[in-house]
Amino acid sequence: MTDYQTRSYWLGHKPYEPTGRLDGDLSADIVIMGGGFTGLWSAIQLKDADPALDIVLLEANVIGYGASGRNGGFAMTMVERNIAQLVRRVGPEQARAQHLAMVETLHEIEQFARDEEIDADITNPGLLTISNGPEQDLRIQQDLDAAEKLGLSDFHELDGAACQELVHSERLRCGHWEDGSLLVDPAALARGLKAAAMRRGVRIYESTPVDSLEAAPGGRVEARTAFGAVSADRGLIATNAYAHAIPALRKYLFTIYAYITLTERLTDEQWSRVGWEKRMGVEDKRIMPHFHRPTADGRILWGGRDAPCSAHGPDPKFDRDPYIFGRLEETFRWTFPQLHDVKMEHAWAGPVCGTYNVMATIGWLKGERLLYALGYAGHGVGPSHLAGKMVRDLMLDQKTQLTELPMVTLKPRALPPGPLKAAIINTGQRLLMKVDDTGGKGGGPLAKLALKLLQ
Ligand SMILES: Cc1cc2nc3c(=O)[nH]c(=O)nc-3n(C[C@H](O)[C@H](O)[C@H](O)COP(=O)(O)OP(=O)(O)OC[C@H]3O[C@@H](n4cnc5c(N)ncnc54)[C@H](O)[C@@H]3O)c2cc1C
Repeated sequence: MTDYQTRSYWLGHKPYEPTGRLDGDLSADIVIMGGGFTGLWSAIQLKDADPALDIVLLEANVIGYGASGRNGGFAMTMVERNIAQLVRRVGPEQARAQHLAMVETLHEIEQFARDEEIDADITNPGLLTISNGPEQDLRIQQDLDAAEKLGLSDFHELDGAACQELVHSERLRCGHWEDGSLLVDPAALARGLKAAAMRRGVRIYESTPVDSLEAAPGGRVEARTAFGAVSADRGLIATNAYAHAIPALRKYLFTIYAYITLTERLTDEQWSRVGWEKRMGVEDKRIMPHFHRPTADGRILWGGRDAPCSAHGPDPKFDRDPYIFGRLEETFRWTFPQLHDVKMEHAWAGPVCGTYNVMATIGWLKGERLLYALGYAGHGVGPSHLAGKMVRDLMLDQKTQLTELPMVTLKPRALPPGPLKAAIINTGQRLLMKVDDTGGKGGGPLAKLALKLLQ
């Protein structure tokens, strides 16, 4: 086990007692590799469908060590870059079905946490998406048009005054409101899911990196570790960006790092300068967006903007970057000059896994013994619960409405190899950030090309 408490504010601000590592060989029905939201929700959904299933989950470090314990804590309906892009990608019928499945999943997360008494500061304040530049106004309108086309009643248009009433910043030009989005303490949620899985009889081992998870003789799979092997009928790869270590998956994935800064606690008087009474999450409409939210203990979390690509998958050297933390603080000060006396107190980063279509993918590796569920591209908090239900249906050989959704039916496409992929993504991002930082004017023709490739 490493210094996991230092990897994010969430992983360190509440006490945690990890469980022990694997000790010897085991046999099970299903072995899960990875103890983030995907592995945990999948284990829970499978057990709820068939309590007799014997499930073993192996986590390399501690539960929530990856993105699940480091994220912004926004559980949103978003599975693509936005609702307009989802419609462009899969057409209106599939986009509507996918969106409604996400609405239901968010209700279920909230209900589950309540039923299981998970203390993860879960609130249901909705989501404010705002424009803070002229080029972003158009993207707000595109979302609203798409939502109207799909007949969705959960998106509401807001003018600049209405946005500024919700959060006092002169930078807000217009926006939309979406009902039903949750905010969570992500590490506390992951730890609560671990307890819920163990109550159902799932055997969880931490500090147990899987060296290989492969087909084995007799139609079985085997997860090999330094401390023993787990033989099972089927296996789930739930390691998200860390799946870069698996050659059969690496070609479909890219790893970028997402960054977060967190202020000190604001006083009541400082909060009164920004309003924010609904304490909802806020995202802007930059191409490389920002996300901000209040925390239960009265801080402002400020994340997004730069997202460098790592050619070789997750690499702890990306976990801290003072230059990027400084750029985040810059936009925080630009947005809230009235909070000049509020200091930044924490900063961290984590690996985000993406596929060509910026949407999670759930599918079988050759032979239908090993399933993978990954690639949420920075939007996995809510969708990992939906992915867990899809994993359940696929593992139990059931064809359901969920297995007909794009997260299952859209197959991943191969990307260029590591260093070339990183060079393309990093160059593209630099151009796109220029567009963002100049209100849509900078970047030149290459930026236009990068924008086109995103769609
Ligand atoms: C800074 C940041 C901010 C984000 N903000 C948001 C947000 O606000 N809303 C949102 O929806 N999404 C957000 N995301 C994305 C979201 O956190 C992820 O999509 C989601 O947590 C993915 O969960 P997961 O379980 O698939 O992967 P992970 O949480 O990464 O879990 C994978 C696990 O596998 C383990 N592992 C790796 N290798 C092995 C091995 N060999 N053997 C065993 N175990 C292994 C890792 O230790 C890790 O615990 C953010 C991500 C980051 C990094």
